[in-house]
Amino acid sequence: KGQLICVGTGIQLAGQIGELSVSYIRLADVVFSLVPDGFTERWLASLNDDVRSLQVYYAQADEIKNRRETYQQMVDAILTEVNANKIVVCALYGHPGVFSCVSHMAIEQARLQGFKAKMLAGVSAEACLWADLGIDPGRCGHQSYEATQFMLYQHQPDTSAHVVLWQIALAGEHTLTQFCTTKAKIQILVEHLSQWYNPTHKVVIYEAANLAVQTPRIEWITLAELVNVPLTTISTLLIPPSKALTLNNKMLARLAITEADLG
Ligand code: SAH
Repeated sequence: KGQLICVGTGIQLAGQIGELSVSYIRLADVVFSLVPDGFTERWLASLNDDVRSLQVYYAQADEIKNRRETYQQMVDAILTEVNANKIVVCALYGHPGVFSCVSHMAIEQARLQGFKAKMLAGVSAEACLWADLGIDPGRCGHQSYEATQFMLYQHQPDTSAHVVLWQIALAGEHTLTQFCTTKAKIQILVEHLSQWYNPTHKVVIYEAANLAVQTPRIEWITLAELVNVPLTTISTLLIPPSKALTLNNKMLARLAITEADLG
């Protein structure tokens, strides 16, 4: 009987993938892949004879295609093989289920059709971000948003926590047909963020290295400068806290403790 296992290949080639995921890739009848570079693709091909890139479903040169359609076609391709009773692995870069809908959709579909399906965690871009920047997100908490969703919905950033904006290069690109946004839309995002942050607040453009020989991009800029820096499909924006944590005095009273008790 067919089954589906979605695995994450991590951000950095080979070294960031779990042993269990590697064994599933070796064992699979077919592996669908969506990875950032040719090196990782070739590495997957060295583990399994039937590796098929999902990249072909993205809009090709001169084609205008909504990414929703792309994702649906990816899910259909995966499900066709599960239905042919194959052991199917879907290998996505980073964590397969973090800011990535394909594996969630495919797993849901497979289960609805009565197949076993599961997801194995992978090392996401955000996991690399905390490591490379030397920040513990638990120290003051953190929020993560997809940049366009952050603009379109009533999200309230907690300025005493870290805020991570994913897909920053697509901020405000609601049509899902383009692979980059415009300077004007980044400007609108900066103005939006200025409700909570000073334009001189320091933020980081982060790009984890895909290969061990590369160094990550860690570019500290002011919020206002965001309009002028090059952003790529792998850029993530980190906005560190702009104010210190403030105590919840009502809670302290309920717990019958004082600030001095907190050490
Ligand atoms: N599932 C992936 C994320 C896919 S969404 C993961 O777990 O990491 C795509 C977004 O992830 C990008 O727009 C960017 O915000 C982030 N991203 C992907 N690769 C990255 C990299 N090398 N460095 C920093 N951020 C990255």
